[in-house]
Amino acid sequence: MTEPSHTSPLGALAYDAAPESASIAHLAPSYGLFLDGQFTPAGSHAQFASLNPATEETLATVALASASDVDRAVVSARRAYERVWSKTTGAERAKYLFRIARLIQERSRELAVVETLDNGKPIRESRDVDVPLAAAHFFYYAGWADKLEHSGFGPHPRPLGVAGQIIPWNFPLLMAAWKLAPALAAGNTCVLKPAETTPLSALVLAEIFQQAGLPDGVVNIVTGDGTTGAALVDHPGVDKIAFTGSTAVGRMIQERVAGSAKRLTLELGGKGANIVFEDAPIDEVIEGIVDGIFFNQGHVCCAGSRLLVQESVADEVLRRLLRRVDQLRVGDPMDKNTDVGAINSAAQLERIRELAAWGEREGATRYTSACALPDKGYWFAPTVFADVAQSHRIARDEIFGPVLSVLTFRTPDEAVAKANNSKYGLACGVWSEKGSRTLWVAQRLRAGVIWANTYNKFDPTSPFGGVRESGFGREGGRQGLEAYLDV
Ligand code: NAP
Ligand code: MG
Repeated sequence: MTEPSHTSPLGALAYDAAPESASIAHLAPSYGLFLDGQFTPAGSHAQFASLNPATEETLATVALASASDVDRAVVSARRAYERVWSKTTGAERAKYLFRIARLIQERSRELAVVETLDNGKPIRESRDVDVPLAAAHFFYYAGWADKLEHSGFGPHPRPLGVAGQIIPWNFPLLMAAWKLAPALAAGNTCVLKPAETTPLSALVLAEIFQQAGLPDGVVNIVTGDGTTGAALVDHPGVDKIAFTGSTAVGRMIQERVAGSAKRLTLELGGKGANIVFEDAPIDEVIEGIVDGIFFNQGHVCCAGSRLLVQESVADEVLRRLLRRVDQLRVGDPMDKNTDVGAINSAAQLERIRELAAWGEREGATRYTSACALPDKGYWFAPTVFADVAQSHRIARDEIFGPVLSVLTFRTPDEAVAKANNSKYGLACGVWSEKGSRTLWVAQRLRAGVIWANTYNKFDPTSPFGGVRESGFGREGGRQGLEAYLDV
């Protein structure tokens, strides 16, 4: 793009375009499945295209794995488990994981570009968040691999065997790292199923596994669609299913796994409450609200999508927030100045539009950022709904897009009651100068993750996961090992 892809109310202070080059991506025109250490075509030779959602252009075609391909992957993972990985000492496993982490760092620019092209997220985020955190997860779990006896899960914690791992499209590389790093550290072998719209960074990761000399079959990657995921869930040779995605699919998986010996962890949707008390520093609060909902186009399970603001400061917070939202730079994800990139798919864009239309229909007041949107690609301007009631769909359903619902409260009790009035329980934020108030509120919130005076902060040492319809099990930290150990 030569033209800046947005108009800015800053006028003369608008940024010039600063595009990252796509040339470092080195994408192949087509990719096979990653089975037993090699790229191989699907049995049926079926392929599907992965698009760049910012341009609607095809980036590469990718093999569509059938149930028999999934079987090949599971057989390969089982063989690698029995012959190699279960006999590899923790210290040796750690060496591979450290090597993978370093290779992710070495190829970080390439991975960031691939991720942004395939997913639509701003290059600033893939470069500064997704890729460094993916490396950090491998580094962190490499450190645990030779210390499992000291991890608090008994003297000889054993791996489960073959892990089937299904991940979504919002953080493709990072979710692969969240799944693979603890599983491998604990001594399991893996079959990973990336999301249909974002398979490419996982395939670059497969090249990294080859480069690292990871023994064949320890990680297998089956690209495909929902039927591929379902085949993995149903395969009798899988000992554990780890799933991140929608509550609807998570529920279906739970039913299918019920009655089998398979272990299961589910990381599902959310409707995070970001609670702002009147004593909080408003400038920081505004940035926190923006990070909470517009980071990654709001395609974040723990997004702060429900803003609960104390009535006494609600007008001021809303006024300042809208001014800030108008300044967000929306457009070319490859531009280093872009704040909000493309919506990941036409289907997701449709879902966001439909839910936003419900907001208007049910009587909330809609504010839409004044940004100009590119002609090609999938775009949704940052949107804030005020005058939202708890009964509105936009206060209850996960929109998974750049849409914020603003509600108000008067007392801490009311804030807690409203925050907890959700079928979900993944994450919340609390903004206050008073530590005692923050703790009082945090103790009463029903959510797996609670941020104080910040939002959307992730660290491999810190466990992440939900309660209620947000799922169960934890990823990250010492707790993240438990999901892959027989304890
Ligand atoms: P999804 O259908 O749950 O997809 C998640 C993963 O599961 C993808 O790899 C998907 O494959 C796979 N999958 C689909 N059907 C399956 C089945 N029957 N058995 C096993 N695996 C299956 O989520 P989505 O359709 O991409 O997004 C829908 C909504 O889910 C979003 O609007 C959002 O609310 C929520 N979501 C939450 C998260 C999260 O991090 N918690 C992430 C993504 C989406 P394909 O991609 O090939 O279909
Ligand atoms: Mg794509």
